[in-house]
Amino acid sequence: EVGYYNGKIGPLEEMTVPMQDRALYFGDGIYEATCVANRVPFALDDHLDRMYNSLRLLEIPFHMERDQVKAELQRVIDAAEESPVQFLYWQISRGVCMRNHPFPDPEKVKPSLMIYVKPHTMKSMDKPYKLISMEDIRFKMCNIKTLNLIPSVLANQRAVERGCDEAVLHRGSRVTECAHSNISMLKDGVLHTAPTDELILPGITRKHLLQLAREHDIPVVEKPFSMVELMNADEVIVTSSSALCMKAESIDGIPVGGKDPQRLKLLQNAYLEKFQRETAR
Ligand code: PLP
Repeated sequence: EVGYYNGKIGPLEEMTVPMQDRALYFGDGIYEATCVANRVPFALDDHLDRMYNSLRLLEIPFHMERDQVKAELQRVIDAAEESPVQFLYWQISRGVCMRNHPFPDPEKVKPSLMIYVKPHTMKSMDKPYKLISMEDIRFKMCNIKTLNLIPSVLANQRAVERGCDEAVLHRGSRVTECAHSNISMLKDGVLHTAPTDELILPGITRKHLLQLAREHDIPVVEKPFSMVELMNADEVIVTSSSALCMKAESIDGIPVGGKDPQRLKLLQNAYLEKFQRETAR
């Protein structure tokens, strides 16, 4: 496990950050995460596109070029011990300065880059998720991958307490996403997923899932759907960079999905192949 803070690399548990980093005071920053195999980070350009977009939306003046960010990430990956799959996390905060809500002077305060890499065991796609449902009490900036994650932390804690893997969130009847994943469903041969507005994170895995569905002639509908529709789906699919493409077998203890296993397996296998192909050396 290797950590990095503003150019300094060391064993993760020995790394420290300055007390005045605005990530600590305000969660004033953004993050990204992806899996690494053969020391190749998966879908890195997609993650960097979203990273720069999150920075733009939060007006964080991070000027490091894409190639330099890639080089810093690779330094940390290469410093870590070899393992079949690794988890790569990085975050950028607005910088280190005296606590004050408005932005600091960008001439004096530069954004901080923090990175870590650790070994990662990918979940077996054959082991379905159990979900709980919860009202989505997050703010309307869910399209930005900010460090403000309290509602997601609480939702995931409730899921774990009930022996579940993830919490599916809804605003009224409308399904948004999960605490740290997107959610989609197969119904009558069509892949349905929520549109990318300010209520969900535009997940990279979600994007790939839609691409793979289209490549396999599975029509895609990006429109809001309800909890009732989700409960009646043929298959429920939960996607994230850390677990890729998982099926769900229950929500609040009620069985869901299991009615279109072939299409589900096709998509899961296509996803796994894409991951393996793009991280091959
Ligand atoms: N939605 C939320 C709220 C997340 O935090 C995440 C990932 O961390 C996702 C969706 C999935 O996004 P991705 O597939 O890019 O990992």
